Amino acid sequence: MPKLDNIKNWTRQNLREWMVEKAKTQSKVQAYRADQVFYWLYQQRVGSFSEMLNLGKETRKMLEENFWISSLKKAEEQHSRDGSIKYRLLLEDGKSIEAVFMPHTNHNTICVSSQVGCGMGCDFCMTGTMGLIRNLTTAEIIDQVLAVYHDIPAEQKLRNLVFMGMGEPFHNYQNLMQALEILTDEHGFNFSQRRITVSTSGLLPKIRRFGNEKIKANLAISLNGVTDEVRSKLMPVNTAYNLEKLMKVCSEFPLESRRRITFEYILIRDLTDSIEDAKGLIRLLHGLKFKINLIPYNSDPANKYQAPTEKQSRKFQKYLLDHNVVAPLRISKGQDIQGACGQLVVAENQQTELIFDKNKLLATEMAT
Ligand code: SAH
Ligand code: SF4
Repeated sequence: MPKLDNIKNWTRQNLREWMVEKAKTQSKVQAYRADQVFYWLYQQRVGSFSEMLNLGKETRKMLEENFWISSLKKAEEQHSRDGSIKYRLLLEDGKSIEAVFMPHTNHNTICVSSQVGCGMGCDFCMTGTMGLIRNLTTAEIIDQVLAVYHDIPAEQKLRNLVFMGMGEPFHNYQNLMQALEILTDEHGFNFSQRRITVSTSGLLPKIRRFGNEKIKANLAISLNGVTDEVRSKLMPVNTAYNLEKLMKVCSEFPLESRRRITFEYILIRDLTDSIEDAKGLIRLLHGLKFKINLIPYNSDPANKYQAPTEKQSRKFQKYLLDHNVVAPLRISKGQDIQGACGQLVVAENQQTELIFDKNKLLATEMAT
């Protein structure tokens, strides 16, 4: 018996090609069946081939003999007072990841993970303390969207998708891009490219590559510091790709009309939340098409950094708004449910091995 393949790791194009190959020996199999399979998987969201009614017996049987259909189990759910729901999802190998649903008045956001843990070692981040355990497969990325989507009431389906959960998406570039291809496929989930945002700590070669992709998802960059000194202290990636290099790549990033780069900026008490920092932010980003997401640091007893006061966060934001900078302040989304990235899984699972190493990073970047 050949090993079955998870069909959610396959793009429609790959599946079509596979069907064409099969058709050479099994006459009833035709390439357009791949479109129908996508419809059943991502629009009807069925869990078995036997439910794919219009495929024909022979095609269904052939699919069953070669593929299986995955789904993720919800191991834990935390509901916040603000309506957001954080899920701990269980993978086939027993490891866990997080996905979050965040309701807003006129749109909903689904936040997903790209890795189990993360190797980037950011000093303030719970996921960072886990180290990189492994990359998620394309299917595991897609299954998070399906698991969360399943719980959204029909009238609230309008949605955004952000890659701001656990992990560095650009360290898992190939599976990420394949997942984006499936999610935006008109025969599949048909997610709008404009509604997808990928957040990176700043892996410059991948930012360049992402800008040249056919799929035009939005780019977000975790900035978090406006001087190399502070940013390197918070994010070791800055020692490999400093602010000057980062800004150069951002200025060259191709943007479609009416699009901007989002910069995420964490407000940490007495470290990144002064008016001097706000001034530095404006100076640094001058000339770019951007907006800033201000995120008050979500503190954790295990970490040395502290949340800013609400008064200081507002003052910081006001300074930016007074200088015509778009800067929403992301106050309190899920703060009562260990809302920040990685907090839920780390609480469950205390593995700690960091792999961040500047030379290793540069080597992997070059190799992929
Ligand atoms: N690895 C990617 C995407 C996941 S992290 C990246 O770093 O961009 C998503 C966001 O969560 C990042 O902007 C990060 O700075 C932020 N974050 C991590 N821990 C946080 C915390 N404790 N409080 C507030 N924001 C946090
Ligand atoms: Fe990784 Fe992002 Fe956390 Fe940094 S902030 S450790 S890149 S998940």
